[in-house]
Amino acid sequence: MKIPIELKPSLFPSRVIDLCRHLHDHGFQAYIVGGALRDALLDRPLGDIDIATDARPNDMIPLFDNVIPTGKQFGTMTVIYSNKNCRESYQVTTFRTEASYSDHRHPDTVLFSDSIEIDVSRRDFTVNALAWNPVTMAFIDIVNGQEDLRLKQLQTVGDPVDRFSEDSLRLLRLCRFHAQLGFSIEVETLTAAKKLGPTVPLPSYERIQVELSKLITALDAWQGLMSLQQIGLLDRLLPDVVLKTCPELWPVWTGDQRLAFLVQEMQDYVTCLKTLRFPKKTIAWVTRLINNANDLDRASFKVTNLAISGKQLMDRGLVGPEITTMLDRLRQLVLDGVITNTVDGIEGWLDDAIV
Ligand code: ATP
Ligand code: MG
Repeated sequence: MKIPIELKPSLFPSRVIDLCRHLHDHGFQAYIVGGALRDALLDRPLGDIDIATDARPNDMIPLFDNVIPTGKQFGTMTVIYSNKNCRESYQVTTFRTEASYSDHRHPDTVLFSDSIEIDVSRRDFTVNALAWNPVTMAFIDIVNGQEDLRLKQLQTVGDPVDRFSEDSLRLLRLCRFHAQLGFSIEVETLTAAKKLGPTVPLPSYERIQVELSKLITALDAWQGLMSLQQIGLLDRLLPDVVLKTCPELWPVWTGDQRLAFLVQEMQDYVTCLKTLRFPKKTIAWVTRLINNANDLDRASFKVTNLAISGKQLMDRGLVGPEITTMLDRLRQLVLDGVITNTVDGIEGWLDDAIV
């Protein structure tokens, strides 16, 4: 396969190239695969870098000083390089082929393979199914992934109905990549997604949350959410959320502000976000944002940021819950610009308010 002209080892950290060479020198194949290769070809910043190899997990153990069996049963080992100043880690996964998915979520068995071609055939989208060996320079593209990168389109590897039925997380990943890469969705892939979206059994909430969080922080998050809605998944994940017009501030909002905007009208967004396994901290922050008109400064301003404390209110004779209520009120007055957040400003107001 012709190597894309833009592909050169210097696009990747030198450790990654050394790691691949190390495997190669011990008689194994090593390919950079997945998102890192896709992003390198698109000239986008690289996220995590995945390496695929024909070495089995037990072959890898003696080859590296620091290797952790993070997902050994699935063939994934994490190789770590660390010194005083930095720590780099790379996931190295044995070539795999997957058998049937009877639950639409997990392959029933994971079988190792000796062939990179088999490994790439089980991957989700053609643009994620490229592989490059930086030592031999072999470039694998048996699914026309390069052409789809050029066309800026997402299509599944193989029959889309089969691939989405096998693992419904791929439907979410489709919308996530649509949002991150700004790629269009190839017509048969979209038709299959629309067919399956409303009824396919959902993947685990943990996996949904990871994809939803990546989608919501993406550049084209609104588009990604529109596609989730279009394929009938949005309402299954965030019941009652209907997208109308994109708010003006959306592009400058953080992911949490976007989430707050989406869920604010829901009957019980806290339970929904809990079910989707959003961290407690995120749910608390989203709640604060909702209670403060989705304004970052207002939500960040706490009673502890006031120029006076509960102690001074106590000295003025306030007791128990009166103190909390007054602190909340003072916070509100400062935020509304009624009083300035200085000891004099607040005490002046208190002098009038409390006899
Ligand atoms: P990111 O930039 O978020 O890391 P990525 O494409 O690398 O994007 P990962 O979740 O890191 O996504 O997965 C690495 C690779 O593993 C993908 O590029 C794809 O080839 C394959 N993959 C991941 N999830 C699936 C899945 N559910 N079905 C098939 N292949 C998958
Ligand atoms: Mg990745």
